[in-house]
Amino acid sequence: MKICKNCGSVYENGALCPECGSVLRDMSADEEKAYSKRLGRTVSEQSSRSYGLYSTLSDRVLGSVSLFCMALHGLCLLFAAKAPHSENVSAYSAAGIVLCFIAAVVFLAPKLLWAVSSIRLRLMTDEPDPQPSALWVTVKNFMKYGLFALGMMFLLLSLIEIL
Ligand SMILES: [Zn+2]
Repeated sequence: MKICKNCGSVYENGALCPECGSVLRDMSADEEKAYSKRLGRTVSEQSSRSYGLYSTLSDRVLGSVSLFCMALHGLCLLFAAKAPHSENVSAYSAAGIVLCFIAAVVFLAPKLLWAVSSIRLRLMTDEPDPQPSALWVTVKNFMKYGLFALGMMFLLLSLIEIL
């Protein structure tokens, strides 16, 4: 964001202020924060709405770990026959693959998840671009860690049976 030295108008970009012709300079992080605060609810509402549809760094890391665990579950399935309780291992790993897969989708592709879960909303209302509710985002976040934890738990159970 750029701010005019002379009149204080704020613009996305540009070199000169269209209002008064003065030079624009880059806003500092604090100034941008103050500016968005001043804009008030509209901005915070927009950011909280799009919040939940983007993967954070930790989401991408945990999503990759989920995919890796899915592969380990696959290996456990292959070695299940050698375990004394092979039917247990097969059940744990089959459940683990499903859990880790869903967790990975929620972590890595929240937009896809929203696209699927908002189909009904799109069909029943005229809203062309429905946004996730705070509740949906909360449930989704709760779900991704829950699925991840369950997937890891089943992996542990399989490994205990095999080793
Ligand atoms: Zn100006």
